[in-house]
Amino acid sequence: MQLIDTHTHLDFEHFDADREQVLARCSAAGVERIVVLGVHEGNWQRVWQLASTQPAVHAALGLHPVFLDRHRDAHLHELRNWLQRLHGERKLCALGEIGLDYYIDTPDTERQQQLLEAQLDMAAEFALPVLLHVRRAHAPMIATLKRHRLAHSGIVHAFSGSWEEAREYLRLGFKLGLGGAGTWPQARRMQRVLRQLPLESIVLETDAPDIPPVGHGGERNSPELLPEICRTLAELKGIGADELAAASYRNSCELFGWD
Ligand SMILES: [Zn+2]
Repeated sequence: MQLIDTHTHLDFEHFDADREQVLARCSAAGVERIVVLGVHEGNWQRVWQLASTQPAVHAALGLHPVFLDRHRDAHLHELRNWLQRLHGERKLCALGEIGLDYYIDTPDTERQQQLLEAQLDMAAEFALPVLLHVRRAHAPMIATLKRHRLAHSGIVHAFSGSWEEAREYLRLGFKLGLGGAGTWPQARRMQRVLRQLPLESIVLETDAPDIPPVGHGGERNSPELLPEICRTLAELKGIGADELAAASYRNSCELFGWD
């Protein structure tokens, strides 16, 4: 089984003690490529360092809505400098993690929106797909994407919305990132949506160290659990694990422009 983990935070300190071993186990388990996402200006160097030194790791850079307090206006300018400097680098695969989070306490929705739109414009300028974080904000996100059509589209990560919302994203050319959340028995709506989703729309992810799958509650999530997540999701969808693995692998390669 060949797999691509389209969303991880492998640069986080949770992996400082055993990152090399985790990567070795991923490689042995068929997790061939791992996308690591920047979340604020302070971690971009670390993310890029990881991508430049580890063959399996690919980088995305962005300003995450949950870290709004850490972002400064100058960081948008900094991000543009990074994208300019890395333009054409094979290891830079997307702009992200960006998005809207209305689930956090007292979200500054106006500032989140400003930041999102500025970064969507950058993605268009540098011809990169976007990796989106969306919590309780599918309606404003869908409206925003309709105004900012992106030729290279992107992924709605950790998707857990309705079938109607899924369909809107698919019409906009987006893929839906599925991971551990859908594997839990209580995720009944997600599992109904999963059964309806066309295979062309699904990419797999762990969001490691977050969102561990069923059977690993309270543990650190890791990209090495992606084969297990793939098997559980495939069973819930009523298809073979190899079929889901192959489709999500193909979809990820197509999105990121990989051979
Ligand atoms: Zn994330």
